[in-house]
Amino acid sequence: MLMNNSIKTLLQTEPNGAKVNVKGWVKTFRANRFIALNDGSTIQNLQCVVDFDNTDEELLKRITTGAAISVTGTLEASQGKGQKVEIQVDKIEVLGDSDPEVYPIQPKKHSFEFLREQAHLRVRTQTFSAVMRLRSLLSFAIHQYFNENGFYYVHTPIITGSDAEGAGEMFRVSTLPLKNAPKTETGEIDFSEDFFGKETNLTVSGQLEAETYAMALSKVYTFGPTFRAENSNTARHLAEFWMVEPEVAFNDLDANMDLAEDFIQYVIRYVLEHGKEDLEFLNERFVKEEATKPQNQRSEWSLLEKLQFVLESQFKRVSYTEAYEILRNSKPNKKKKFQFPVNEWGVDLQSEHERYLVEKHFKSPVILFDYPANIKAFYMRLNDDGKTVRAMDVLFPGIGEIVGGSQREERLDVLKEKISKLGIDEKELWWYLDTRRFGTAVHSGFGLGFERLVQFVTGMSNIRDVIPYPRTPQNAEF
Ligand code: ATP
Ligand code: MN
Repeated sequence: MLMNNSIKTLLQTEPNGAKVNVKGWVKTFRANRFIALNDGSTIQNLQCVVDFDNTDEELLKRITTGAAISVTGTLEASQGKGQKVEIQVDKIEVLGDSDPEVYPIQPKKHSFEFLREQAHLRVRTQTFSAVMRLRSLLSFAIHQYFNENGFYYVHTPIITGSDAEGAGEMFRVSTLPLKNAPKTETGEIDFSEDFFGKETNLTVSGQLEAETYAMALSKVYTFGPTFRAENSNTARHLAEFWMVEPEVAFNDLDANMDLAEDFIQYVIRYVLEHGKEDLEFLNERFVKEEATKPQNQRSEWSLLEKLQFVLESQFKRVSYTEAYEILRNSKPNKKKKFQFPVNEWGVDLQSEHERYLVEKHFKSPVILFDYPANIKAFYMRLNDDGKTVRAMDVLFPGIGEIVGGSQREERLDVLKEKISKLGIDEKELWWYLDTRRFGTAVHSGFGLGFERLVQFVTGMSNIRDVIPYPRTPQNAEF
């Protein structure tokens, strides 16, 4: 085992007068005497008490916010309140100076907009360090859940040669020269001369490949980056985001819903248990933030109450048709308050509708299922009514859609017909169709947008603030 002298461990150690060394970054230095030191291992700072009479004045001047220092001293019971232990300093070494005049992260409140421009330093703030620690914890919980439940982790490719799913919103991967791309006889770009000998893109989802693995390993999941060149500048969309995609052979849609619910509750329970300090900090932040909003836009609940509620509630399962009726007869629809009116069965539901259902009507997480076939992807299983598919979306308060999934079409003839109707060349998907040729079976899966989950858990309202370096239209700094 590696020796662990992190501030997190030291703060849990009995004050025993032991000699310790700890390294970190200075948060504040008060009265030439009290250093609040943080190393990112915890939201708490370690108080280091300097004997300034016996410390070189030049050295004292270099202990400024943002500087990296190494402190050696004894771990003692703290005189001050707020902490159990502190360090009585014997020796300080400045490892890296900071310039207090220009260091952007001052010990005061900064706006999230400002901090996005300082994304390389914002993780030194309490809020962002808490968010990123919870992000890490959540991803660990996800792996643990699947591992405990007999799933295998599959690394599906990032570069994909199939564009069946995301036509139009994919990022091209190419080594062809932009200016003098080789052309075919008909004047189009000749991708046969490209690196892979064909058109390739960054993946929008690992699902199709995960399906092929589920048809051999039974229970699998992918958890990796996905890319969408959709031009939606919202607080819930990124051009690069991480997606969790379980896929299970022999699961029908009901089993798929059970899995989604159990999975989400497990990971939330896990962070409530293991990420308490950070969650409590973010809870306070959330409550303060809500208090600045007009009464009718305020969350009725604190962050911790929202998380607890999701753990204790059964997600309401509602068919698209039922939801459509509720929305059609709803007050905002009748008063024309929705931007997109709901007056015809078959309309796609917008986030205003999803949020109405979750926040106003059901007041609980909702799973919508059996959507109209023509607003959903080709691989979703057609119901006997011939017009709906076995799709499901999990909708969360404040977030809207957090999960999108379905039971997959396992019948070769039905799938082929759908593909040809869409004008997709069957040959493009020969390998996908093979799973329906050789030992096809009922199977289901879903995609959970990891950042949306992190948003829900941390209470951060903008998705740009839950990923280290957000990629959005016109923005790929860092
Ligand atoms: P939306 O309707 O919100 O744009 P979608 O229907 O395009 O989402 P799916 O293709 O079903 O999304 O993807 C599965 C999940 O991935 C979604 O439920 C959502 O949580 C997440 N997701 C989708 N697009 C994005 C994005 N651009 N940025 C972050 N997360 C996303
Ligand atoms: Mn979806």
